Amino acid sequence: RNPEATSRLTEIATGVKEKKKDKTRVLEWRKGTVEERLSHALVHGIVEFIEDDTTEAMSKYEKALSVIEGPLMDGMSIVGDLFGSGKMFLPQVVKSARVMKKSVAVLEPYMEEEKKQSGASRSNGKILLATVKGDVHDIGKNIVGVVLGCNNYEITDLGVMVPADKILEAARDNNIDIIGLSGLITPSLDEMVQVAQEMDRRGLKIPLLIGGATTSRAHTAVKIEPAYNGATVHVSDASRSVKVVSNLLNKDKREGFSVHVRQEYEKLRQERENRSSSMSFATIEQARSKRVAIDWDSYSPPVPAAPGITTFEDFPISDLIKYIDWTPFFQVWQIPGRYPRLFENKRVGKEARELFDNANKLLEKVVSKKLLNAKAVVGLFPANTVGDDIEIYSDDNRTDIIMTTHHLRQQRLRDNSKHLACLSDFVAPKNSAKEDFIGAFAVTAGIGIDKLVAEFETDNDDYNSIMVKALADRLAEALAEAMHERVRKELWGYASDESFKSEDLIKESYQGIRPAPGYPACPDHTEKRLLFDLIQAESKTGIELTENFAMWPAASISGWYFSHPDSFYFGVGKIGKDQVEDYAVRKNMDLEIAEKWLAPNLNYEPKKETAVTK
Ligand code: SAH
Repeated sequence: RNPEATSRLTEIATGVKEKKKDKTRVLEWRKGTVEERLSHALVHGIVEFIEDDTTEAMSKYEKALSVIEGPLMDGMSIVGDLFGSGKMFLPQVVKSARVMKKSVAVLEPYMEEEKKQSGASRSNGKILLATVKGDVHDIGKNIVGVVLGCNNYEITDLGVMVPADKILEAARDNNIDIIGLSGLITPSLDEMVQVAQEMDRRGLKIPLLIGGATTSRAHTAVKIEPAYNGATVHVSDASRSVKVVSNLLNKDKREGFSVHVRQEYEKLRQERENRSSSMSFATIEQARSKRVAIDWDSYSPPVPAAPGITTFEDFPISDLIKYIDWTPFFQVWQIPGRYPRLFENKRVGKEARELFDNANKLLEKVVSKKLLNAKAVVGLFPANTVGDDIEIYSDDNRTDIIMTTHHLRQQRLRDNSKHLACLSDFVAPKNSAKEDFIGAFAVTAGIGIDKLVAEFETDNDDYNSIMVKALADRLAEALAEAMHERVRKELWGYASDESFKSEDLIKESYQGIRPAPGYPACPDHTEKRLLFDLIQAESKTGIELTENFAMWPAASISGWYFSHPDSFYFGVGKIGKDQVEDYAVRKNMDLEIAEKWLAPNLNYEPKKETAVTK
């Protein structure tokens, strides 16, 4: 029926022929020795033949350990060298590790037998990894585990939300050589200090590695290292972990390396002290007089079209794909550059493209088999500002306050500071007699992810387990973007004729902001509890908060909506004790507790507690 049929068929046929030819060429490598084949499979991340080749190697070498220490380690050391010299990228390394794991899984039963006969296996060292108590993020930690595993370190991964006791017991029971702590949210910084203190109290000397998005060399130097007598090192990314670990475990280098790090951190502490003493701060009263000036008299706050709570039980994942900001996805995999330009890049383009294709394949599967479920809840409420707090009312009468949320104001003076901002500046003050509103949201794309990750892990497939987590994070961000658009155009409706392309959405060209508690404009994570209560986030979406206010599942986002065209993102930065005291009173919280949650923002050293109180 189709006049094009012949030419289309010919076209397809050519493709088939070419593929076939391709395959025979690719399969040349199958003609090599078993050692060459294992090495090729490892370096190219090919899992297809690994079980057969491993079995063959086993019958040749007779001992599982000889296979591991012979051809497998030889292959992995090529991978390690290529990665170390920047000729191989993280996704390829993770794929190589998957080959290694699958091969080791074949050898495992023999290893058990051999161990009984000859004692323990010989790895380069035993590393324990854990995401600290109250935190649920583990992509970075898992990547570090894979990369170290590739370099013949034995990894004990305790997972997420791990209390200090459990970490230290496992370290003792498994004769661990190095402990690595990971975390993403700011309260984890304090949690890490506590683990360090506890290690010190127990008189341990095991080196301590610190990693994760909010951690830094400065924080490690200033807060963690002084708390612990053993070597304490910040590791900024997975590729650096191998070098640090090998230095720490090498008898000849250990001492020199530790001393070097100690001196470097001492210098950092010094620099920091000098810098902070040169900063100047307004008092909180002065700062309030420099609020962001908005002319409320000539402004009419937009009235929400759909006030109250709106729930989305099952937001179609397929509708989210066009909202995905891919650049951070490539960052997770340590491929630098902006999407989509990075595909053109000579150095990383090919690898980026392959990773992107694999991501999209998995994404298609997630959509067609409904493997992940996305949920969202948004709420829009009457609100007015009182001081630096925002009162939220149950209805338009504005007499019944359902909740007061608390915000922090910038105090640090810079040469050109026009204002000292606080998020409450973006909502009309109660005494302006303008009836304003505020919004809140919580979204997740992580419902069902545990089952998927468990399946991949049972299959020794770290590549896809990391991939699905990275994708779920992207989908959650995409859902936050899609919801925000819906709010602007329909639910709040103040920008009903807005029409932005996805690049413009990523650039946040629209009116209004959605700051997230725990991030720079509203750094206090405890306010997330109020936000969750306000929109019944747990019952509507299934997202839960840990004791440190991390959202579980990890692929979740929550935040406030401000509609005013002059609202903007900023960082509260360092604040003074006068504000913290005032804030603690407003929140009806003990000063020490407020100081604990605001620790990263204090411009002073809070009084040391003698005992750790929780
Ligand atoms: N397109 C990005 C969006 C996330 S980053 C992605 O897919 O990863 C931008 C978001 O971080 C903002 O929408 C806001 O929710 C939050 N954010 C950014 N700056 C902030 C600040 N200073 N304070 C609070 N939240 C902030």
